[in-house]
Amino acid sequence: MNWITNYVRPKLRALVNKRDIPEDLWEKCPACGQMVFHRELEDNLRVCPHCGYHMRIAAQRRLELLFDDADFTTIELPDILNDPLKFRDLKRYSDRLKEAKAKGGGEAILVAHGTMGGLKTVIAAFDFRFMGGSMGIAVGEGLLAAARLAVLQEAPLIVIPASGGARMQEGILSLMQMPRSVAAVDMVKEAGLPYIVLLTDPTTGGVSASFAMLGDIAISEPGAIIGFAGKRVIEETIREILPDGFQRAEYLLEHGMLDMVVPRKELRERLITLISLLRHKTPTAEVVALPTPSEPEAEGDGETAEETAGE
Ligand SMILES: [Zn+2]
Repeated sequence: MNWITNYVRPKLRALVNKRDIPEDLWEKCPACGQMVFHRELEDNLRVCPHCGYHMRIAAQRRLELLFDDADFTTIELPDILNDPLKFRDLKRYSDRLKEAKAKGGGEAILVAHGTMGGLKTVIAAFDFRFMGGSMGIAVGEGLLAAARLAVLQEAPLIVIPASGGARMQEGILSLMQMPRSVAAVDMVKEAGLPYIVLLTDPTTGGVSASFAMLGDIAISEPGAIIGFAGKRVIEETIREILPDGFQRAEYLLEHGMLDMVVPRKELRERLITLISLLRHKTPTAEVVALPTPSEPEAEGDGETAEETAGE
């Protein structure tokens, strides 16, 4: 046996190390626990092929999936004062920013323009990998820039949040981005342009309490967590057990907070349909009157439960 431990094993180890196998060849699905091969996962747009769980996706990839021919132009966001409060928790905020930037991505938001179904569109997509997609001054600037661009190009604006909320390292300045982002949305609405929000996992905190819930049309990916305070915080505050699926996209749809829940594979087509319906002022086909039904059906109004936001 000695020759195995002394000779074969080190040789094998050297061989394995030399090939330098990347650690992320397989990814574990957080929902069903199955291991998924990275290529299969990418081909499936980062949706688990076993259970349909929608994993988070980088902003860049998100834009590639939506724009025609994956072709778009990102715009440079205005320079802002980094770390205005000289904030420090376990680490300096300026160091956290440097680390996040080194991992790729200039900030937690990416603003781009291009076409969707041949129609000019502006998209602002959040990147959760950049400090949890948190909304600081830079993100507020990004949203304003996106709104200005949409107005300039007379294009619809699609915002795709994926954010834990406000960026606490910027304190009150971060909270001020809430009204700023609402002002940005108003610019688009006043110009008579569609403002569509695609809510992805997660959309929480100050983001859900501002621009994210103001879409003319609110779409979400399946299973996305959408809410203000977390489930546990609400349960501890109101001392009640919350229902299953609380704060999930499907629950919000059922309670009238969303217009539709659309799987990632169908998103692009659905958005193109919506944009063309909203942008083409004249119908593309002849309008045909619907035949009048012989028997008027009695339809009971579905009761809509009023949502109370936990704070
Ligand atoms: Zn799964």
